[in-house]
Amino acid sequence: MENTKLEAQPKITHIDQRIVAFEVVNQETKAPSEPCLEQVNEKLDRPEHLPGATYKIKTPMSDHALYVTVNDILLNEGTEHEQRHPYEVFINSKNMDDFQWVVALTRVISAVFRKGGDVTFLVAELKAVFDPKGGYFKKGGRFMPSLVAEIGYAIESHLQTIGLMQVPELSKEQQTMVDQKIAHMETSSSPDNSAFPSSASLCSKCHTKAKVVLDGCATCLNCGDSKCG
Ligand SMILES: [Zn+2]
Repeated sequence: MENTKLEAQPKITHIDQRIVAFEVVNQETKAPSEPCLEQVNEKLDRPEHLPGATYKIKTPMSDHALYVTVNDILLNEGTEHEQRHPYEVFINSKNMDDFQWVVALTRVISAVFRKGGDVTFLVAELKAVFDPKGGYFKKGGRFMPSLVAEIGYAIESHLQTIGLMQVPELSKEQQTMVDQKIAHMETSSSPDNSAFPSSASLCSKCHTKAKVVLDGCATCLNCGDSKCG
């Protein structure tokens, strides 16, 4: 009675020591296990200290600036899988009277952060909010459709900093063109404080008043978008 399948296993005929631990060998325990990575979920306790960053938002809608603070939780600290994940967001201003909805929004965003998983969709959702009263232009000529969108941009910038979102890259040609134009503008002193020529029109891609005609081709000096590719 030979059983070739069992040959690999050492055959134990008797036990001469106390059994202190045992393990049932099956496919699951034998399979090379994935490294057990820490992930954000609602059961995670908030550590005493969280690293974070604060972003200042100045809007024409209020005399006081808003400060958006995003705190992160550090996952898999000290390992090659170390990653910051946003954990909570606070928005402060000297006068929060008109901003009860802002407080509500921060609580909802924080709750989504703590659910874990991919939270980058929040940025697109916030940036797509248009104020029915019309948006406003930022210094430098970028159009901001709403305060909610501006909060979205602040969170986007944070997620880019911690590596959860990519910073969109320009093609080599676009970058060269933008660099040249900026260098040209820096030498020719412009009376207004806008970073782009006052004759520039609104770019439909990045919502910045930075579209000029270069060699007969409408080109955005901010994002490099060009009608001629
Ligand atoms: Zn643009």
